[in-house]
Parts: sequence; structure tokens; C-alpha cells
Amino acid sequence: MKAKSLSVFFLLFCMVLITSCTSKAQEKPPDKSIFKDTMVEMTWEEVKKEAEKGSVVLFPIAVVEEHGPHMDLSPDIYETYHGCKLMKQSLEKKGISTVIAPPYYWGINQSTGQFPGSFTVKPETFKAVLSDSIECLKRWGFTKVFCSNLHGDPVHRATLDSAINEIRTNLGIDVYNVDALNVKVQNPPAFPSSWPGKYNPDYHAGADETSMMLSCYPDKVNTELAKKLKPQSAFEPLGYVGDPANFSKGKGGEILNVLSERGALAIEAFLKQQKK
Ligand SMILES: [Zn+2]
Repeated sequence: MKAKSLSVFFLLFCMVLITSCTSKAQEKPPDKSIFKDTMVEMTWEEVKKEAEKGSVVLFPIAVVEEHGPHMDLSPDIYETYHGCKLMKQSLEKKGISTVIAPPYYWGINQSTGQFPGSFTVKPETFKAVLSDSIECLKRWGFTKVFCSNLHGDPVHRATLDSAINEIRTNLGIDVYNVDALNVKVQNPPAFPSSWPGKYNPDYHAGADETSMMLSCYPDKVNTELAKKLKPQSAFEPLGYVGDPANFSKGKGGEILNVLSERGALAIEAFLKQQKK
């Protein structure tokens, strides 16, 4: 009897152990990967097929940069990546096959370079890595690359524009900045109206950017801290320009949707214009 109850106990113990192991294996970490749905998560054969069917490439370009005390260093790359995913969805609905390149985040941070965490590279490094990456895309058969960048640093933007022009000339590939496409878009969606008490200026980790980040990666914003921050019109002392406390999750989502749809419409119009 004693041996029997021991073996029943052992059996139960094993069952509990197996159940706990299986449930642990099924627990998935939250998916915040900037590689999801990009070329990085394809096999080489899938990449080859995308090139063969003439897919256009969206290239997310950003930086790793300080974003005040209420966010980490990631907003620019996460927002740009998220915007590219929305753009891809919209382009595919318009019948334009699209693939997203590995998000690029070794950009230039001159405006916030004094803060720890704002990684920056020299303009020539930026240009060289971008050029080499696009040369790879060309070698694999891709012919159209659209760079999408949400980072506002003036040196970063100017370097990106001159890099794109040089790469297009030197490599003979159609590479463009989505923001600089010279096309007319019919009835582009309008940006949401400003909301009450909106502080000006607001261009870095302020109300707009805090709202955008909150809309796509809510757990990456410390909202309790953001609510306590006072508006600030220069990067010093806390590393934001604007009014983080005045965030609006709904408006943030709207801004990202409008930006992406405008980008998709511009690419569609550009491709139509090229065919003429
Ligand atoms: Zn930013």
C-alpha cells in the first residue's frame, strides 16, 4: 500500500513537472523585433523570389538616440520600422509588391550628440554603409529602393539626401528618399489637427513623438514620468524639445498612419510616372 501511494505521488509529481515545462516552452516573449516582416526573417530563396518578381524595397533609416528621461534610445528606429510596415501594407493593397530591408540605425546625431546614448557616425561612414547595402540589393536583382527616414537631425538629413543622389549616379540604381519624391499626390490624407494646449516647438521626444511611440509600443514610454515633465524649447537640460506631458495616444497613431499613407501614395504615383 505504502509503495503504491509512493508511486502515485511520483506519477503526479512527473505530471506537474511536464505541465510546467510545456507551459514554459509555450510562453512567448513579447515580439518587439525590428526584423519581423523584413528581409532579415526570409530565407535567401525568398529574397531571390522577391527580386525576381520586381518587388520594391523600403529601406528604414534611423538612429539610436536619447529621447528624454521618459523614453529609451529606440523611438526613431521603432517608429521608422513601424511606418515602413504600414507603408508596405498599403502598397501591397495597391498591387505593389514590397519588401523591407534590414532597418538601418547607424545614423548621425549632431543635435543630441552631447547626451550619452546618442550614437553617431561620420557622414562618410553613413554614406559608405548605405552605399554598400544598396549595392548588395542591386546585385541580387532589386531595381527600386525607397529610403524612409523619420530622424530630424539636419546633418543626418542632408547626408542622407546627398548619399542617395551619389548612390543613384554611381551605382545606376533607382534609389530615392520617400520624402523627396517629386510627384503630385491626389487628395493625400490630412494630418490630425493640433490639440488644445499644444506647445511649440515640439520636434524631439515631445508631445508628437511621445504620442507616436505610445501608439505603437506603449510599454516603451514611461507615461507617469512624461506627465511630470515641463515643456522645454531646447535640447538641454533634459534631452527633449516640446511638451512630453501633453501626449495623446490616438493622435500619435493618426500621425504615423498619415505619414505612412502619404509615403505609399507618393511611391505609387512615382512608379506610375516612371512607366509613362
Ligand atoms: Zn526621435
